[in-house]
Amino acid sequence: MTTALVSVPPSPAPCVLRIHAQDNVAIVANDGGLPAGTLLPEGAPGAGVVLQGKVPQGHKLALVNIAAGQPVLRYNVPIGYALQAIAAGSWVHERLLQMPAARELEGLPMATVQPPPLAPLQGYTFEGFRNADGSVGTRNILAITTTVQCVAGVVAQAVARIKAELLPQFPHVDDVIGLEHSYGCGVAIDAPDAIIPIRTLRHISLNPNFGGELMVVSLGCEKLQPERLLPPGSIPVADGRNAELHTVCLQDAQHVGFMSMLDHIVQSARPHLERLNARRRETVPASALVVGVQCGGSDAFSGVTANPAVGFAADLLVRAGATVMFSENTEVRDAVEQLTSRAASPELAQSIVRELAWYDQYLERGRVDRSANTTPGNKAGGLSNIVEKAMGSVVKSGSSPIAHVLAPGEKLRADQKGLVFAATPASDFICGTLQLAAGMNVHVFTTGRGTPYGLAECPVIKVATRSELARRWHDLMDVNAGRIADGQASVEELGWELFLCLLEVASGKKTWAEHWKLHNALVLFNPAPIT
Ligand code: CA
Repeated sequence: MTTALVSVPPSPAPCVLRIHAQDNVAIVANDGGLPAGTLLPEGAPGAGVVLQGKVPQGHKLALVNIAAGQPVLRYNVPIGYALQAIAAGSWVHERLLQMPAARELEGLPMATVQPPPLAPLQGYTFEGFRNADGSVGTRNILAITTTVQCVAGVVAQAVARIKAELLPQFPHVDDVIGLEHSYGCGVAIDAPDAIIPIRTLRHISLNPNFGGELMVVSLGCEKLQPERLLPPGSIPVADGRNAELHTVCLQDAQHVGFMSMLDHIVQSARPHLERLNARRRETVPASALVVGVQCGGSDAFSGVTANPAVGFAADLLVRAGATVMFSENTEVRDAVEQLTSRAASPELAQSIVRELAWYDQYLERGRVDRSANTTPGNKAGGLSNIVEKAMGSVVKSGSSPIAHVLAPGEKLRADQKGLVFAATPASDFICGTLQLAAGMNVHVFTTGRGTPYGLAECPVIKVATRSELARRWHDLMDVNAGRIADGQASVEELGWELFLCLLEVASGKKTWAEHWKLHNALVLFNPAPIT
């Protein structure tokens, strides 16, 4: 007979996190939340307060009594107004809060805060592929551009054949991909807003990870003709080679039967693969990084752990002379004052207002209300509304001045360095697609609820906001920022870790999403009508 050994782990001390000394709420960090009756210990925010009921992990509790109508402060910003009296120690969830109205776009502080210049960071490099246009690739990929969705099935089969028959002969080429999308025909191509999907596709074809090789598959009768997608002036001509567009048109009379189309595409790939295969990684300065940051599946930890660490890394990147893009209009809209005041010039502040005003009108056209951003998952993770989400989201941008502003689908020039606001929807796939068009060569993605997000076009480093997620999704998350909430690492340490991870991944180290080949679709932002 054996005696069962029952070990009862000591329950960990209650841990609550307050962002700002003025905040009247804090979030519960403990796995599984905290039960009713928990006494907040000495030294913690709200010391002596007793929990009135269970508060789930990541959710807010009142540190003091909050009277009806009083602001609930997080990040020292009113994230809502109490709809009823809230006793100290109570769970403060979204049903107890009235959301504040969006800030008007008039009378904003324009370029009023000029942060002192950050000391340059020298000596950091990575191994990348230099391109003729001055950009640097972190991967060496043959991307086949398509003008229209009609050709997607054919291109998918051609890509499978190229990978099986040709790619083994070209070991220095990382991958072959088809740039599939839903655009190209059945769309109001002359509508003013059609410029957004068209230039997005054009600029994705020119992403630094594709080595300047342009190969296009077209159907023939579509509205988006190859010359319209890539007019001669839009194609980099630094070495003269890419000036001519190489197109396979499926409706051409030369194609007799499906196999002849496939053969033509496969054969056309060969010279591109030969040129890509001749390239080698070279040591380049960290300033060649173009990092796109975004978040998805956010929770209340996003703004406490992962996003501040990304913000610290963003400052390191700017100090190293690199480019960092942040985006997601609906998640920065409620922090618009922070953005316009941090713009490097009044003109740039005006560009931020222009982009957000355009987006306000776009949402209004569709009668979208402010409750549309914050998903059920965000709320389950403790984020009450978009104001709270925005305050935690915008910290990804760090503290540098905003040096450039891009409209959706626009592309950065190689000399546009520093912090960039690239205006995009917050939708993960659409934001990622637009950041690819802007010239992103590495992507940083923070998540609290967890998402397997990945892109075929560019490596995606995923940062978990909580250790529990990092443990459960141990082979999907690349960096665990939950260690900040656990007291095991500081924001600065995590920021440095992410910065060094970016250099490694840019040099060829695979992310988990690359390891498992997790690739989300390119999703175009098309605000123009479909016909
Ligand atoms: Ca997002």
